Amino acid sequence: QPVLAVVGRPNVGKSTLVNRLLGRREAVVQDVPGVTRDRVAYDALWNGRRFTLVDTGGWEPDAKGLQASVAAQAELAMHTADAVLLVVDARVGATETEEAVARVLRRSKRPVLVAANKVDDQRGVSDVHSLWSLGLGEPMPVSALHGSGSGDLLDAVLDVFPETPREIFGATGGPRRVALVGKPNVGKSSLLNKLTGEERSVVHDVAGTTVDPVDSLVELDGEVWRFVDTAGLRKRVKTASGTEYYASLRTKAAIEAAEVAIMLIDASEPLSEQDLRVLTMVVEAGRALVIAYNKWDLVDEDRRHQLEKEIDRELVRVRWAERVNVSARTGRAVAKLAPTLRTALESWDTRIPTGRLNGWLSDLVAANPPPVRGGRQPKILFATQAQSRPPTIVLFTTGFLEAGYRRFLERKFRETFGFVGSPVRISVRVRE
Ligand code: GDP
Repeated sequence: QPVLAVVGRPNVGKSTLVNRLLGRREAVVQDVPGVTRDRVAYDALWNGRRFTLVDTGGWEPDAKGLQASVAAQAELAMHTADAVLLVVDARVGATETEEAVARVLRRSKRPVLVAANKVDDQRGVSDVHSLWSLGLGEPMPVSALHGSGSGDLLDAVLDVFPETPREIFGATGGPRRVALVGKPNVGKSSLLNKLTGEERSVVHDVAGTTVDPVDSLVELDGEVWRFVDTAGLRKRVKTASGTEYYASLRTKAAIEAAEVAIMLIDASEPLSEQDLRVLTMVVEAGRALVIAYNKWDLVDEDRRHQLEKEIDRELVRVRWAERVNVSARTGRAVAKLAPTLRTALESWDTRIPTGRLNGWLSDLVAANPPPVRGGRQPKILFATQAQSRPPTIVLFTTGFLEAGYRRFLERKFRETFGFVGSPVRISVRVRE
């Protein structure tokens, strides 16, 4: 989701305009805690498009003076945002301060828009033209007070944002897509048969038309699911040696086509390299995950102890995934799969609002600041969940965050917000 940074000196009506753009009725800034006090991030929505609006602080002179503070804010805006909105008081015109910031912004590779605020009536329009002198393109007249011009301004903002990747999965994209994966002989076809048999409803072998015929529609727990690429499973093509590579390609394609994977592991055998390879494919593809230990009917006390150790040793990186111990033969716990899939997908779909995310983060970072590196303490400016499916958090910082600290953030993030069954990605955008 793209980021818009709003910059402006005090008294130009920036807060009022921000409220306008966010569609709030009250002209009072309801304080959403930011990671640092002088900068707050909000979720904004216009014409069905979501973006993050970052209100950078007013340009109060700091220790180095007003000019330095202005330049620093403008630099920050440039480095963290996809577009910058400079708010100017049209009645006052461009002051030295705005000229200084315009100098910085003109060097920016990001698109910059100029809002000429306080154009409350026709008379004000003539003031707007003088703002061409900033060299930032056509100034757009707005009245934050009355709301005029704010729609046009938002249209212009959306226009200058870079194209974001289209959502791959529509919100109502039909049945949720499941990949049933695992090494050969782990029990994939047996489980699929069990699922379709037990649940009394048939596997719809969808011929041709709208659904790809290699998929199966399966009703589980009152809901229809689409198991992707099950044709190979049902045909039981016995593969000759040398075809493992193709089997692996096929697994990969199924995972890519799915939203959630059921990773089958043979509970009766030691965890193998092959198991871990499939697991890596799921994690790297960023899909939701349910781990099903199959053939549980063969597991005795000894094997169970061994298995616990394997899990501790090999599956720590997917600690967030739920495990279900099933038997395709006896039908044990097979009914648990559907609710587990639902939980995983719910997490995978979740988006934490920016205000809540930053409120949580500011408290956490205040108590546990990032480790100092090269004599400098990296500051976390703000965070936004740029995406769901899988949940992706972008942290805007002033410096590199160590892997250990990033893992710490992810752990705490999961403790607070859950995300059972879904990978969470944390990416860091460092302001140079
Ligand atoms: P696939 O290659 O992953 O599709 O595996 P299959 O479904 O063909 O199963 C491989 C073998 O494991 C078959 O002989 C199945 O009967 C057996 N099998 C599958 N699930 C179970 C289970 O839960 N318990 C036991 N004991 N055997 C199973």
